[in-house]
Amino acid sequence: MTLSKVAIITGASRGIGAETAKLFAENGYYVCINYLSNESAAEKVKNEILQRGDHCITVKADVSIESEVARLFETVENQLGYISILVNNVGILRTQCRLEEISAKRFSEVLLTNVMSCFLCSKEAVKRMSTKNGGSGGVIVNVSSGASKSGSPNEYIDYAVSKGAIDTLTRGLALEVAAEGIRVNAVRPGLIYTEMHASGGEPNRVERLKSKIPLQRGGQPKEVAEAILWLATEKSSFVTGSFIDPAGGL
Ligand code: NAP
Repeated sequence: MTLSKVAIITGASRGIGAETAKLFAENGYYVCINYLSNESAAEKVKNEILQRGDHCITVKADVSIESEVARLFETVENQLGYISILVNNVGILRTQCRLEEISAKRFSEVLLTNVMSCFLCSKEAVKRMSTKNGGSGGVIVNVSSGASKSGSPNEYIDYAVSKGAIDTLTRGLALEVAAEGIRVNAVRPGLIYTEMHASGGEPNRVERLKSKIPLQRGGQPKEVAEAILWLATEKSSFVTGSFIDPAGGL
């Protein structure tokens, strides 16, 4: 069965999400650019896509909140049609520090944004996509991190924990819905040049650490987007519950 080409990409106003939105649009997908607050950045990504003649919309929604996620999915369904692809890309991190300096408030905020968003969006997607629920199937791609394996000591264990949870959710959900027309996979990027590192207090983190990467360089957001696109297309039709690590060998 040929699926509609409608994709929701969470956190797509910049970085990996923005590159993914542009790449999907270039490949004929109708894209929803979700974002939290930076409207001008989201509109810039949208205009770039529209200028090339491709189709997309922006939807502002905090995807860690259930009602906002419901509104996001309803809006996309109404404006673009059947949602066949969800990319759970949203992720935040906070200032680098040791575990004993992480407050309980920060720990729960990081987990809420990174894990709850993935759970809530996946839930809305499965409700619609599952053949068991009358859907025509679909694909979910989660954006985890190499941090789920390294644990990010002395930087942000809270963030690493959230990515470990995403890996587990990926595996569990993939097996749960495998017979219902839905594939679920994840990418685990390594050090990628985005503005996220500034949130950790070190905008040039990739430069500092790049010599430790076997390929001897940081990655570009587009190199992660290519892996996400592959997992979303029929080219990966026999792949589910799996992980791709665009991490230069780390
Ligand atoms: P980024 O540049 O910091 O962008 C984060 C995006 O998420 C922004 O579009 C932001 O929207 C949005 N966002 C944040 N909280 C949100 C919420 N509650 N609801 C909706 N949108 C929200 O991030 P990135 O570096 O591209 O990372 C993207 C993903 O890759 C994350 O999951 C990250 O953990 C993962 N990753 C990144 C790296 C890396 O080296 N960069 C490595 C491994 C994994 P606004 O602009 O509106 O705030």
